Amino acid sequence: MLDIAIVGGGTAGLTAAIYALRAGKKAVIFEALAVGGQIVNTPDIENYPGIAHVSGYEFAMGLSEQAKALGAEIRFENVTAVEPDGSAFLVTTGSDAYDAKAVILATGAKNRPLGIAREEEMIGKGVSYCATCDGMFFRRKDVAVNGGGNTALEDAAFLANYCSKVYVIHRRDEFRGDEKSVELLKSKENVEFVLNSTVTAILGDQKVEGVEVTDKNTGEKRVLPVSGLFVAIGQMPANDAFTDVVSLDPKGYISAGETCLTGTPGVFAAGDCRTKEVRQLTTAAADGAVAALAACRYIDAQG
Ligand code: NAP
Repeated sequence: MLDIAIVGGGTAGLTAAIYALRAGKKAVIFEALAVGGQIVNTPDIENYPGIAHVSGYEFAMGLSEQAKALGAEIRFENVTAVEPDGSAFLVTTGSDAYDAKAVILATGAKNRPLGIAREEEMIGKGVSYCATCDGMFFRRKDVAVNGGGNTALEDAAFLANYCSKVYVIHRRDEFRGDEKSVELLKSKENVEFVLNSTVTAILGDQKVEGVEVTDKNTGEKRVLPVSGLFVAIGQMPANDAFTDVVSLDPKGYISAGETCLTGTPGVFAAGDCRTKEVRQLTTAAADGAVAALAACRYIDAQG
């Protein structure tokens, strides 16, 4: 019997493990892919209190090492269901099942796809959702980044360092991301903004050879001759496996407030996977602490 099953090994899940272990509880993190979560893909973090600059990868690895040094066990198993089981919960993974006194859902969010034809089949052939992972394959080539948030702006700045040309395609003429990042891009000679536009087709047979963009105001179509398309249009939750045990809001995030309490006693939600206003590294870490301490209190109260 585990004390706390933590579903997800991103910032929220790893922080929850640190707090749970320091409170003397047996906590196991279940992670389907790799520890670290979304922040691994961020080249530069400059807004985490107390750390002026760190890469997302370094941050995630540091957090993971910190949790492991305290005794965190990480199981690389995909959790497919969480069900009430008497006074505990049955956590089912692709390969096993575990009993836990409490569960913290810290499933984060996954990249939102554009949802256009051939997007999926061209992943790895020019379509990417991670500039820091795949950018090096496009050295001295022309690429496009789609999106207007901080991720798209940072990806574009990163790619502009070694791609010949970077088009930034955004559906509006104002950016959601920081003004500072927009100004930085404007100062780069190899960056071109393609505004009020959406990507309407991916061109090329075996690999991306261009993208068609359509101007939302005029309907005019234009082909950008790029060999890479970096999609950075935000995230969406991945909570479908948990609808039997928690309720989701209309956008699919777990209904839980700042206390991280879901409607189900013993099940907590932390980080980007829950309903919240601000999805940042700081708030994910904060949620991990709040959820873990609430789970500890819940277990202690059960006796
Ligand atoms: P985001 O802030 O939600 O931005 C998504 C962007 O994609 C928006 O500009 C949105 O356009 C556009 N978009 C959404 N759906 C679209 C569609 N179907 N077609 C075309 N465009 C679409 O997502 P994000 O940039 O991934 O950032 C997520 C969170 O992480 C944010 O809070 C962000 O500030 C934070 N973040 C912080 C840092 C940092 O501080 N270093 C780095 C990266 C991310 P509209 O603007 O028109 O809605």
